[in-house]
Amino acid sequence: MEHVIIIGSGPAGLTAAVYAARANLRPLVLAGGMYGGQLMLTTDVENYPGFPDGIMGPDLMNKFREQAERFGARIENVDVTSVDFEKNPLIVRTAEAEFKAKSVIVATGANARWLGIPGEERLRGRGISTCATCDGAFFREKHIAVVGGGDSAMEEALFLTRFGYKVTVIHRRDSLRASKIMADRAFAHEKISFIWNTAVEEALGDHTLRALKLRNTVDGAHSEIEADALFIAIGHDPNTAIFKGQLDLDAMGYIASADGVSTNVEGVFVAGDVNDLRYKQAVTAAGAGCRAAMDAEKYLEALEFPIEEAIA
Ligand code: NAP
Repeated sequence: MEHVIIIGSGPAGLTAAVYAARANLRPLVLAGGMYGGQLMLTTDVENYPGFPDGIMGPDLMNKFREQAERFGARIENVDVTSVDFEKNPLIVRTAEAEFKAKSVIVATGANARWLGIPGEERLRGRGISTCATCDGAFFREKHIAVVGGGDSAMEEALFLTRFGYKVTVIHRRDSLRASKIMADRAFAHEKISFIWNTAVEEALGDHTLRALKLRNTVDGAHSEIEADALFIAIGHDPNTAIFKGQLDLDAMGYIASADGVSTNVEGVFVAGDVNDLRYKQAVTAAGAGCRAAMDAEKYLEALEFPIEEAIA
């Protein structure tokens, strides 16, 4: 029986692992076959405190991992295939094994949606990004394109006006999905312009992004625009498939939590992007991992020393 199983190994999961390990809980981290989370797909990270010169995403995650292992976390690069949270002990299954635990921390993250167009994967981190907060500053005085018509796309476009000399929002329809207030702000901004009824079909460039091939979604006409950066803001998918029917999810599919730590199942805690529609930053995920581990520790303590006993 494990004290605590942590599912996921991004900043949330591995910070939870550091804290749980330092609390002598010997956490088992089921890290996923592709361990390390979204930062494994990133190049320079310049907004994680403590690294004034920046650090490569995979290097940062390897440091998280080393730190958790140093204190006794056991990390297995396996995917969780199902869970059974009906009763305690909680059950967590992989393809090869079944684990029992008194508590579980869910930190499975969320994945930004990508367009799936030619050139996108090759130019990721070389002009193409899904995070303006992370990568906007690399494009000072450049032409920046943003794909999407929701609140995220408007937020990203507005933020990117601090850097680019021009920001062009490309949307596949002729009206925005974004809330009126966000749309009005974007419409009013002198640096932002819109290309409507248009899909990005291909990202062009040898080493870095140079241009975008576009297709008009109404008449099918093709065109090309030059762009130094493309920010894709078409939503995120929280990794919650294995928790459906086991944990309460909100309308967007994220794990529901009244306080950002606990779930509807006693002993099951949540941390990071899988519960975060809004911030989705490595540092906020790490903070959430810390909170989840501290609450799991308190929960386990209470199991061992129930309050009545303590009073007696
Ligand atoms: P969203 O509301 O689902 O919008 C996604 C946008 O991307 C839509 O305009 C959609 O087009 C477009 N899109 C989706 N797939 C696409 C594809 N394959 N190719 C091209 N375009 C594609 O997602 P979101 O903007 O990330 O927002 C998620 C939630 O967070 C929303 O509830 C939002 O209000 C909230 N949020 C709020 C704020 C804020 O208030 N400051 C900021 C960020 C997010 P269609 O419109 O044609 O479907």
